[in-house]
Amino acid sequence: MKLMLTCEHASNRLPASFKKAVPAEILKTHRAYDIGACAVFRKLIRFAKPEFHCEGKFSRLFVDLNRTITNKSAFSEYHEALDVCDKAAAEKAKAQATAYWMEYRDAIEKFVESALKPKTRVAKSKPTVVHLGIHSFTPELNGKVRNADIGILYDPARPQECAYAQLIKDEIKRLYPTMKVRFNYPYKGSSDGLTTTLRKKFGQRYVGIEIEINQKFFQR
Ligand SMILES: [Zn+2]
Repeated sequence: MKLMLTCEHASNRLPASFKKAVPAEILKTHRAYDIGACAVFRKLIRFAKPEFHCEGKFSRLFVDLNRTITNKSAFSEYHEALDVCDKAAAEKAKAQATAYWMEYRDAIEKFVESALKPKTRVAKSKPTVVHLGIHSFTPELNGKVRNADIGILYDPARPQECAYAQLIKDEIKRLYPTMKVRFNYPYKGSSDGLTTTLRKKFGQRYVGIEIEINQKFFQR
């Protein structure tokens, strides 16, 4: 088994080309990034020593690395706002965002592809890649309190993912018995995202799990 760790929403930074498009106060909020996720992700790298890891260096308001690029929601409304006041700047920012998205996805796909290749043609067991995407969610959205401490997202139609999700939940509960861990909450693991794309591309030997941590743990 080869471990891959990623953190798509690690950062709230914006490239220079897009800085004027987003109000500074928005950049401090959960809309811009997954608060606390990057710290957990970096700790996990030191602890679990994955074969491959990568993190987003720009805010999802620039481009959401966890959406298909053809999905409308990959680009935030700030692209449209910029388009209204400066069309040339908006086009440039969108092209740059698309190139950045491709570069991020390419690096990940290249790793998974090479990791899944057996070392010899007669290898008895074929390698698998276990991907953990580290995310966080806001404790309250549109006035509704989210009822979980940690969410584990996976595709229930895939037996290996079910087994890994259960294993992770059991281990969290063993270490922290009072922690409320829920499956496919607050989002569905099978919705559009990085893991969904990789499942389609690489089949059953790719195992994609997303860990969603409640941001209340990072609020002081
Ligand atoms: Zn996220």
